Amino acid sequence: MGNPGIYIHIPFCLNKCPYCDFFSQVAKEDEISLFLHQLQQEIKNKAPLYTSYAFDTVYIGGGTPNCLESSALLECLAILKQELNITSDAEITLELNPECIVPEDLKAYEQSGINRLSLGTQSFRNEELRFLGRIHNAKKNLEALHLIRAFNTFSLACDVITGLPGQSVDDLQVSLDLLQKFSPEHLSVYILTAEEGTPYYQWIQEDRVKPLEEEQVNILWKFAHHYLQDRGYSHYEVSNFAKPEYHSRHNSKYWDDSNYLGFGPSAHSRWDRTRFWNPPDLKSYLDGTYQPVYETINDEQWLIEQLMLELRTEKGFDLNYLSFLKHSQPFFDMISRLNSESETKLLEIEGNFLKATPEGWILLDSMIEKLIEKIDC
Ligand code: SF4
Repeated sequence: MGNPGIYIHIPFCLNKCPYCDFFSQVAKEDEISLFLHQLQQEIKNKAPLYTSYAFDTVYIGGGTPNCLESSALLECLAILKQELNITSDAEITLELNPECIVPEDLKAYEQSGINRLSLGTQSFRNEELRFLGRIHNAKKNLEALHLIRAFNTFSLACDVITGLPGQSVDDLQVSLDLLQKFSPEHLSVYILTAEEGTPYYQWIQEDRVKPLEEEQVNILWKFAHHYLQDRGYSHYEVSNFAKPEYHSRHNSKYWDDSNYLGFGPSAHSRWDRTRFWNPPDLKSYLDGTYQPVYETINDEQWLIEQLMLELRTEKGFDLNYLSFLKHSQPFFDMISRLNSESETKLLEIEGNFLKATPEGWILLDSMIEKLIEKIDC
């Protein structure tokens, strides 16, 4: 377990994308100032319990953090640094929407110590961006990338969404090729999923949209895997690719059993064997009546969580954890069964780690479900 990290959730966006199930809503002016006030209060209230720890990551996400005035956002970061021990080499990430990036803000981010920008490019095909309900277009992506690359200080992470209805490999390659011109140090490639409660899910239910066939999704995913590996990225987590030394230090905390604190509505925290989170409810956050929910993580829950998270990573699941099990043989039998039922190897054991092969990553959810059945602490 490494140093703990900090996540700040900004619950506002300029519009709501139809596929998105993150906790965010279109901002109203009076809500923003109240939110910033409550966020600062939350930091000040929570911090005294954690002053003896050195935090080496801060991730400001959402939502769309850069729909807020940079001065207000940076004031919150300054308070965080004042109240908690943020290491001098901390990775400090800010998520950005390409639509609203201005050079003056980038300068202010740089001066405040932000050293990593995560840009939600998603696609460079306007047709796809329109389908996703994004307010930016490909031109805005390019402008944003040029502006960011004018600074030497920022490490650049970009997001791409694939698996859109009707998407071909050539379509995906348009976006990946354009991104390569800016050599982002980190890339996340997410497969579009229909989350219940979203308009996109509803469109599928009503047959207004036909989701992409699973086979084609797998072709796109494998294409991204090979395309990026050939260009020097390591595929270090199912959806994440990085140039050497540029793995997301913050996101790795979620996978490697580190502690983290979350601030803002819906933000989750994990501290040793306790998980706690603020309800996804803006009203109670703004009026200060929200009550965080606490949950103790028992051995079985902890083991299942580690399996689900670590098997998503290149490093794999640490088999030493199986010492918590009453019987580990059924778990190993299931690994053999999953491999024997498939034409290609899905899981492999290297040293003390169980790893999914690239073919296995595609089937990860169903494999994890079967492995979990064999966990009995
Ligand atoms: S901009 Fe991001 S967080 Fe906001 S609605 Fe769209 S996908 Fe969700």
